[in-house]
Amino acid sequence: MSDSVIKLENIYYSYGEKTVLRNVNLDIKRGMFMGMVGPNGGGKTTLIKIILGLLRPDHGSIYLLDEPIEAFKDWNRIGFVSQKANTFNKGFPATVFEVVAMGLTAKVGYFKFMRKNHKEKVLQAIDQVGMGEYAYQNIGNLSGGQQQRVFIARALVSEPKLLILDEPTVGIDYRNVERFYELLHELNVKQNITMLLVTHDTGAMTKYATNIVCLNQTLHFHGKSEEYSALSAEYLSEIYGHPVQVIVHDHD
Ligand code: ADP
Repeated sequence: MSDSVIKLENIYYSYGEKTVLRNVNLDIKRGMFMGMVGPNGGGKTTLIKIILGLLRPDHGSIYLLDEPIEAFKDWNRIGFVSQKANTFNKGFPATVFEVVAMGLTAKVGYFKFMRKNHKEKVLQAIDQVGMGEYAYQNIGNLSGGQQQRVFIARALVSEPKLLILDEPTVGIDYRNVERFYELLHELNVKQNITMLLVTHDTGAMTKYATNIVCLNQTLHFHGKSEEYSALSAEYLSEIYGHPVQVIVHDHD
């Protein structure tokens, strides 16, 4: 067994005549915190959908936890958090506990009663994301940042090996973005959960990601976070197709 969590080989994808991904090769190893950056329309969301099995590439192979995606069944080992912060409106009739418990439905079954150890798992996941005191509050009354923490907890209850996050900080107050990344960093380091984070925020992210890829149809940069930080503004502007301001946050 290799230590690959996601392996992509020569991926191509088109929407009709429009090619959005070509020759994408990527190997995300266990324990990596991979940041994926790139211009709008560069194909990031399409690639995530391919990794999640929602779209089938025109060409290429995908391996998840060493299994070809066609044979992969362990989907509860992969957590996904989308950019939809504030999905729940004020007054939405579900508590934080209930939302996080949804992450267990695959195991518990929809209409079966939860066992005591399931309840403990839910509460533990809520604690892990620092939302313990909100466990029985309505989700709709929380801020965007707090709701995203709850979605992380929902992904954590099934003890994932990998978390995929597609622009999870959109809609989060900038002061809470750093704290949100710190939480991801902690889960990455302490629980060895591999992270794939798609983001526009190339600033704070470089502090926590171990590796970075830059996607614009194909992978233009693939390297360590420090190497990315050292790229010149000119080089990045070429990849992005417009001027890019380089904001670097040092690793501690
Ligand atoms: P990113 O996430 O990097 O912004 P996307 O993967 O969303 O990029 O989009 C890549 C390109 O594919 C864009 O030009 C977008 O307009 C196009 N696209 C995305 N979804 C569809 C779709 N369902 N049908 C046709 N074109 C699409």
